[in-house]
Amino acid sequence: MMHRAKKSLGQNFLQDPNVSQKIVKVFDPKPGDSVVEIGPGKGALTALLLQTLPHCTVIELDNELAPMLKEQFGERITVIHDDILNVSLSDVRQTAGAPLRLIGNIPYNITTPILFHVIDALPAVSDFLVMMQTEVAQRIVAKPRTKEYGILSILMQYYSTPKMQFAVSRNSFFPVPNVSSAIIHLDYTAPFPDKAADDRLFRKIVRGTFGKRRKTLRNGLKGLDVPAVELERLSVDLELRPEELSVADFVRLSNELVHLAPQILNTVTEESDG
Ligand code: SAH
Repeated sequence: MMHRAKKSLGQNFLQDPNVSQKIVKVFDPKPGDSVVEIGPGKGALTALLLQTLPHCTVIELDNELAPMLKEQFGERITVIHDDILNVSLSDVRQTAGAPLRLIGNIPYNITTPILFHVIDALPAVSDFLVMMQTEVAQRIVAKPRTKEYGILSILMQYYSTPKMQFAVSRNSFFPVPNVSSAIIHLDYTAPFPDKAADDRLFRKIVRGTFGKRRKTLRNGLKGLDVPAVELERLSVDLELRPEELSVADFVRLSNELVHLAPQILNTVTEESDG
């Protein structure tokens, strides 16, 4: 059956077998792994995964592709015909009996929602090898005091060890996308060594202070309703801007404010993915 690529579903199919092979080689599937592929499309990666794996699960939203995949791979795959953002990865993990290894050349427009969806499911996922727009990959691995460094860098570096793998040319896809791509590996079994006492508070402080990126930490924290007397007790320099703080600084900061968690979590802040 002919399938026309759907722009609405962010379909850019891998058409260079060398690139597909390189991706699966880096992923290094082992026969016992519980592998879940997100957005398998026409099965470019799936077929290679199944050279090693006896079975894998795929999550595909497209009404035509989901049944085609089942027809092509039969009993060797479980097809979840749904939007990844509606799939409970914790439930999938429960059925699988082991933490999930995710892989996917996923639509660029939902990269960050998918990354946050995965974080919400932890510890159900052990790692994720994922294709994304180069700029987003650079933000994920960015270091403090760079223009790429922001909320995404801090949260991904807190919940995982992100590692840039390799660049993928636009010409490896059909249709050819407008942006360049990179493959990045996120290892959730190696999160940042310092732990936030309250995860939600940590995220709120990161988002709340970066929402006002050009403002000093002092102003950002005021926006989170942290009283002046509490500000003076903090160990971080309040005249710094959020992009000057490391992940460790944000963890320490959120732990120094943990007694104010209910109050801070209730403040209304501007949210951004920055
Ligand atoms: N992995 C394939 C296809 C990449 S295109 C390849 O590399 O060739 C992205 C795929 O994600 C398409 O198959 C598209 O239908 C699917 N997709 C788009 N939105 C999705 C969603 N919300 N949930 C699951 N799959 C989705």
